[in-house]
Amino acid sequence: MSDETELDPFEALTEFLYLVPVGLMQFERSGVVRLVNPLAAQFLVPLTPASDMSDAYSALAPLVPDLARLVRDYSAPSGVIIDHQRCEVVSGNHASVFSVTVHRIHGDVNLAVLEDVTKLVEQEQKIFADEQRFRAILDNVRDYAIFTIDPNGIIEQWNQSLQRFGGWLADDVLHRSISMFLAEEHRSESRIEQLLSHARSTGSVETESWCLRRDGSRAWTNTVLTVLPDQAGAVRGFVAVSRDMTERKRMEDDLRRLASTDPLTGALNRRSGQAILAAAFQDDSHHDERVAALMIDIDHFKTINDQHGHVTGDLALSAVVDACRQALGPKASIVRWGGEEFLVILPSVHGEELAQIAEVLRSAIARVSVATANGELWLTASIGAALHAGSPELLIRKADAALYAAKREGRNCVKVAD
Ligand code: GH3
Ligand code: MG
Ligand code: MG
Repeated sequence: MSDETELDPFEALTEFLYLVPVGLMQFERSGVVRLVNPLAAQFLVPLTPASDMSDAYSALAPLVPDLARLVRDYSAPSGVIIDHQRCEVVSGNHASVFSVTVHRIHGDVNLAVLEDVTKLVEQEQKIFADEQRFRAILDNVRDYAIFTIDPNGIIEQWNQSLQRFGGWLADDVLHRSISMFLAEEHRSESRIEQLLSHARSTGSVETESWCLRRDGSRAWTNTVLTVLPDQAGAVRGFVAVSRDMTERKRMEDDLRRLASTDPLTGALNRRSGQAILAAAFQDDSHHDERVAALMIDIDHFKTINDQHGHVTGDLALSAVVDACRQALGPKASIVRWGGEEFLVILPSVHGEELAQIAEVLRSAIARVSVATANGELWLTASIGAALHAGSPELLIRKADAALYAAKREGRNCVKVAD
């Protein structure tokens, strides 16, 4: 047996009218009120304290002044006469907004449904204002792109900042992975997964890489991804803020190059040569191959300067560096070790190859000529070569000794240290 007492239908209806969270007023076409629930009275009485709650048109006049006409003109036997019409009423310094819906239920029975939507309207206004403010920022920021991605890195929103940043249009980017922005050599889904998982665990992640603009050009880009939590604190997605750092990157690269190269010839300077040599000894993991040093010294260079002038001497130095580059390719580091002395570092060379490589280099330099006022000037160089010998200093010393031997032997020749 149930503990609950059965209500009769009338009591049940009364209870419903009390509890329902909207104001209800049932009225006839003439305006005579048949039924009004407490919430409707609570809404309406303060609006027109003197009004008659028995007449719907005067009770509802502060909200819908022309209700009588609207009801009279509505000819259908049933349907919606007013649909969620918002009405603002001000009493004292307090403004309220009501939503009014009036139904014709059938024939002469009409029902007004009243809701106080003041709070809802305030929230809507706040959201709208926030959105406007946010949009104004997104549409007007320069140098930054700001957009959101879902938890899997899919771009879910486009704004002007993406167009300003990389020329990207909504159709280009929406519903695609953020990896689309990465330049080919950086592009991989696993890299994106790693970044997102790092951001998930620490709140945000910062990364720099080459990115693509819509026209295919590249921009060195700094991107910060920050977790966008939902109300429960779960990761709803990420906000991406990207900044074009191409100019800074270019300046840094220029500075690095200036600090590591010889301005006259473009060869590496002695300091970076020493660093490269030390690194090559660290990474000496090649089985039968070893670090090799070729010490090159231009023959009778003083005479070239004396006979043709310093400018021609300078041209000759650059021409020798170019010849070394062409003869040995990108694996060789070419270092200006001193005035007219160059060190070539090869990270991995077979013992029996060394003499041959040095000979290739010698003959390449012997083919170098520089134009002078008195015609073509041909250069030669002597070369001392040595293989990994315990330490960078020892290797240099052995190559130097071999070079000295080559000079003694008559110049324009190669000596390999034992
Ligand atoms: P060897 O065949 O024995 O090597 O004789 P060399 O004349 O080449 O050698 P030496 O060391 O006597 O002379 C090197 C000259 O290189 C002296 C110096 O004035 C010149 N030199 C050094 N740096 C530069 C430079 O940057 N530009 C020019 N034009 N000359 C330089
Ligand atoms: Mg010399
Ligand atoms: Mg010299």
